[in-house]
This record gives sequence, C-alpha cells and structure tokens, in this order.
Amino acid sequence: MLFIGLLVYLPLGENAGPAGASSGGALSPFSPGLREHPGGKGASSPASIRPGPHPRIAIVVDDLGYEPARDAAWLQFPEKITFAVIPFGPSSRKIAKSAHERGFSVLLHVPMEPDGQVNDGTSGFRLRRGMSGAEMEELFSRMLQDVPFAVGASNHMGSAFTADPEAMSLYTAMLKEKGLFLLDSVTTGRSVAVASALRAGIPAAKRDLFLDVDPDPEVMRRRWAEALSLAKEKGFAVLLCHGRADTLQVIQRFLPDLDAEGIRAVTLAELLSGSG
Ligand SMILES: [Zn+2]
Repeated sequence: MLFIGLLVYLPLGENAGPAGASSGGALSPFSPGLREHPGGKGASSPASIRPGPHPRIAIVVDDLGYEPARDAAWLQFPEKITFAVIPFGPSSRKIAKSAHERGFSVLLHVPMEPDGQVNDGTSGFRLRRGMSGAEMEELFSRMLQDVPFAVGASNHMGSAFTADPEAMSLYTAMLKEKGLFLLDSVTTGRSVAVASALRAGIPAAKRDLFLDVDPDPEVMRRRWAEALSLAKEKGFAVLLCHGRADTLQVIQRFLPDLDAEGIRAVTLAELLSGSG
C-alpha cells in the first residue's frame, strides 16, 4: 500500500541559496531559471521511506510533454524512471500513455505560481495562491485529463505556491480526493508541500538532488555521485533531472554505477509503496 512509506520532511530553509550553476541558459521551453530550480543537494530528511533490502534511487524526468521527439527518446531508458509531464503540450498525452505502457511511473507536473515573474509558456495554466478550491479543482482536473495514468503530482516551479500553507492545504486535499501522491520538487526552502501532504494523509516525497541544473557533464557526474552516496546512506534518493537530450546522453553513461554499487532504480510509485 502506498501509505507504508511516508517521508517526513521538515522544511528547514535549505536550498534557498543559489545553485552555483554556471549557466542558467534556456535549454528547454521550461527552464524556469535558477531561482525556481535551486539545484544542489537537498538537506537529508529527518525521517524517511522505510528502507528496503537494498538502496534505491528514483530518477524523475521533469518537463516532458512539449518536444515529442526529444521526449520519446526517454522511453528507451534502460532503467526504471518516472516521467513528470506538463499538460497541454503536443506530446503530453502520448508520452504519458507510452511511459505507462513501458512500466514507468507518470506524474502530472503541475505548473504553479513562482516567485516573481517567469515566462515559460505555462503562465496560462498555473495554480495560483488565492484560487478557490473550485477554481483549483477545475484547472487541475483539465490538466489531469491531459496526462493520463498519472499516479502522483509534482510542482513545476511553484516557489510562491508551495510556500503558502492555505493554497497547499487546498491542493493536497484535492490530491487525496483524486488518489494521487505528492512529489515536492523543492524549488524553495520555504516549501510546506510535504508537511501539507502528510497532514492530508497522502504519501509524499521530496527531491533530494537536481542532476542537471548545470549542464556541465562533470558537474552532473558529481551530483550523480552525491545521489548514490545518499541512497546508500539513507536507503533511497530521489533524483530530478530535465528531459533534455544532453542529460539523457550523460546519465546513461552513469548507469553502470548502479549495479556496481548495488543500488536499484525504481519508479517513484515503487519507492513510496516499498515495492521494487
Ligand atoms: Zn518543471
């Protein structure tokens, strides 16, 4: 059952600083910039998903749905991964369906109100602070219809929204009603997403690291090594990356490390349910 493995996370203001990335270049239509994706290492959780017999890593690929050819390349990924799909893109529906058929987890990657202004193509359909429950429900349901087979939801940007207890309380109540779990992308150290999810009684996880805020392969290698260490240290790690072609190429070169280190790649649903 999904409720077995709850990840308790107390936001302590981590990740609020700059990521140290050398390039904030727009590598995808959904590169919201460093402020919304502070990369780097997340603080380790004070409590965790129940450890399994072997360390596990959940790799979540963000911002899919808008570049059909590029997105489809991720379907060939040789290990289990999770697809976070932004709705209303030319390939949102198709990539969600294909990922599900391939045995991957699908997340609805929900555009949420950032801090300040970010122009990335989602401005017409972001969840915003101050929305009523009904407004949120209407927009979210349309998004969910466009990303079939979603078993959970993660935030695309959302530094303002995820830090707002009232908005998050409405949001997590809605996730509960729809039977979805929550992944906090942790775009701000002030996020109350996981705390709110746990209060609502839904399974929740937070990303530990971002692989590719800096597209330099050497930096990605270091982040990858950190993710593997973390997985061994606490039993699991949640690694986010973007659905870019360069990331796909680089991460595939790292995969032999998993066998070598005895770490199993699992979908986020498997991680949260303790299976896999
Ligand atoms: Zn995103």
